[in-house]
Amino acid sequence: MDVNIKEHRCLTMKGGPYELNDDARKIIYFSSSGELYISASHEKSYWVLAFIDKLRRNRVKFTVELVSIEEITQLYSQNVGFSGEETQSSGRQEEVISIIRNAVGIKASDIHIIVRENVTNIKYRVDGELRRYQELSESDGNDICATIYQTMCDVAEPVFNPRRSQDARLMSSSLEKCGLYGGRIATRPTDSGLLMVIRLLYDRGSNNLELEHLGYTGEQVALINRMTARRFGINILSGPTGSGKSTTLECVLKRIIAQREGKAHVLTLGDPPEYRISGAVQTPIQCDKNDDDAISREWARAISNAMRLDPDILMCGEVRDLHSAVATFRAAMTGHGVWTTVHANDALAILTRLQDIGVSPAILTDASLLTGLISQVLARKLCPHCRKPWHRYAQHVAPDIRQRVEKYCQIANVFLRGDGCKACGFSGISGRTVVAEVVEPDNTLMEIYISQGKSAARRYWVEQMGGLTRNHILIQMINQGLIDPCEGERDVCMLDDDEGAGLCPRPQ
Ligand SMILES: [Zn+2]
Repeated sequence: MDVNIKEHRCLTMKGGPYELNDDARKIIYFSSSGELYISASHEKSYWVLAFIDKLRRNRVKFTVELVSIEEITQLYSQNVGFSGEETQSSGRQEEVISIIRNAVGIKASDIHIIVRENVTNIKYRVDGELRRYQELSESDGNDICATIYQTMCDVAEPVFNPRRSQDARLMSSSLEKCGLYGGRIATRPTDSGLLMVIRLLYDRGSNNLELEHLGYTGEQVALINRMTARRFGINILSGPTGSGKSTTLECVLKRIIAQREGKAHVLTLGDPPEYRISGAVQTPIQCDKNDDDAISREWARAISNAMRLDPDILMCGEVRDLHSAVATFRAAMTGHGVWTTVHANDALAILTRLQDIGVSPAILTDASLLTGLISQVLARKLCPHCRKPWHRYAQHVAPDIRQRVEKYCQIANVFLRGDGCKACGFSGISGRTVVAEVVEPDNTLMEIYISQGKSAARRYWVEQMGGLTRNHILIQMINQGLIDPCEGERDVCMLDDDEGAGLCPRPQ
């Protein structure tokens, strides 16, 4: 091997345009002069074949040199760091990093890159709403998507293909540059181009998020505290996608870890773990995302396996079918505290969902087993600086909504979304709040649910157990000028839902 280090740059090292992960760097070295050094004993390994494939697709010229692993290590050791003249790709990387950093700066949850004929739109999702960020040419958009996928991600398929759906994750070096804990990427071809969505996951580190800050009422927090204090039982959280369930679970787990002074073994199963929770052992679930049966089997297997890892508290991502439901209930029956999620529209609908999945009534009605039912949605909070008083702008509100607001709310305290100001980034919105229902079931509630159905159980919960419905909480928040009633109806529920269901809520 005869390499003059001065005449070339290493393209595969950290920060380089063809950056490889640590394992791949042990067996591959690619220089700017076109030599591709490969460990002779790994010529047919996955990483090597994938990398060669990538170079070919990018029409990069190269010649292969088979060398020993030691020689590759030596080559890397001669490079002090990638600081080369900006190549096209690293220039693009800078562009991508600034797009992501700007999104992080305004706490966006997602970045959408929509490539169409002649134009690319980049949008950020902030507080649940899409906002336009930038417009680029079609070819710039394609380039950016390819750069993100091929040079900044850990990917299963090494080559970006705009004509297929692909999933990827931002690699750790990219995350560091953007100030993120994680980034999940999904792409899909559209009728006129391509859509790429990047989900941004933040590292909240030691940030002491509390349930009260999320929007749970004092009464609800007290109920959740009873759930976290129990040694065993299942507590289930429901809510639509993007309703902040993982943030709530994170708060709950932190609370448990603090309550037990770090003496409990808290294990999470997730795909992937969305947030780092110090004091918990977090384990990913690995399976083929395109194969529903495989996902289902893997979840059930992971939960059973977790039981053998001696946890006190287990948090498993989602009860999605009978396999995972059975495994989850078994975990609780064998004396573990379990926290999980399901898809359901309100707290008692969790029971309906479990029944639909196939959980038997005998298990469902055991209130000592099913100890907590929580549902949450997110509602947009008004910017206090530019919100508009109801009485001056009510004439612009649709008559049916106006009627309901006048019937259920204290209109002197009601505000509408303003036109935006500097403080809210000209959106009129200042963050979001949880609007939740928290039910600590008792045996009577469960019996009524089984014998008379959900509506009867809900009536018992509200009228006999003093349950706080989200309708009730929404009206409270509107009366505090926190939520625009029109948006509240869209985000949470209709103001007359409780009355329509024959409920007599507590007086305001
Ligand atoms: Zn404002």
